[in-house]
Amino acid sequence: MFGVTFVGTLAILWALNRYLRWQRALACVLFALALFALLGFGLWHLEYGVQLWTVAGGLASLVAGYVLGLKVLKARARPQVTQTPKPLFNDTELERYARHIVLRELGGAGQKKLKQSKVLVVGAGGLGSPVLMYLTAAGVGTIGVIDDDTVEHTNLQRQIIHRDENTGQSKVQSAAAAMRALNPFVEVRPYARRLTGENVGELLGDYDVIIDGTDNFSTRYLVNRSAVALGKPLVSGALAQWEGQLSVFDPARGGPCYECIFPKAPADGLAPSCAEAGVVGPLPGVIGSMMALEAVKLITGAGQVTRGEMLIYDGLYGESRKIKLARRDDCAACKNL
Ligand SMILES: [Zn+2]
Repeated sequence: MFGVTFVGTLAILWALNRYLRWQRALACVLFALALFALLGFGLWHLEYGVQLWTVAGGLASLVAGYVLGLKVLKARARPQVTQTPKPLFNDTELERYARHIVLRELGGAGQKKLKQSKVLVVGAGGLGSPVLMYLTAAGVGTIGVIDDDTVEHTNLQRQIIHRDENTGQSKVQSAAAAMRALNPFVEVRPYARRLTGENVGELLGDYDVIIDGTDNFSTRYLVNRSAVALGKPLVSGALAQWEGQLSVFDPARGGPCYECIFPKAPADGLAPSCAEAGVVGPLPGVIGSMMALEAVKLITGAGQVTRGEMLIYDGLYGESRKIKLARRDDCAACKNL
């Protein structure tokens, strides 16, 4: 009779603990109290034979409790396994960027900044081609490219990111394939759409540096207004026949914006497009590579970017010069900064 009561009480306590999910300490205390109460009752009121069994049972329970308690303490004392953070670069990447890492102005810290940066390239054409390829090769972590055009064979004389077999394909998809083939360690985000007043703010807002390689003025003004409003640096380049120019427009950190220098789009016919006036094939390669280099400097802080000045390159005579640019107080885009 006593044995049944003993086992029954413990079973009820165990069931209660299971369903009410007591704290471990509370459960232990309750079990110990029940055990002592039952043992005490057994020792005082029962006959000699049963008393022996009760004492034996009590000792066995104490030993079991001790072993259990020891287990719990050991589990608590076990050091927590802390997850070591995944390294930013794997060995292959470290080898890939070794020529960067040895540069005093870049080093490992600069390469890390490149990997953690996001650059948006507007236009996957003549300027966009070298910009995208060099940023990809340089290890810029996230590269967005927006363009709503398709690859045309009349552009392949200078748009070297596209292959002849991709004629008719979306330019951003063709560019993305070339970039992924060049460096699988960068994230490429192709946007096959036109940049509009509705989507420009949201898109640019996601990037650290904006690069404008388009050849139409309405997009240039749109990108500039948005970059100014968001306080993002804008690397801008332009081409005409044998001559190219580039500048970093960054009024938030000094210097003018694009609209300070070009307050009005030229009248139709005064600034003919590449299709109308022609452009020598390697020229976008020169200017686009310089734009990619300006982006690398902006991201890593190396050297000095062409902020507040414009670099002009004359390919026909192999000459380059720089002119100073100043901010215009009445600029509609940046006067409120
Ligand atoms: Zn301005």
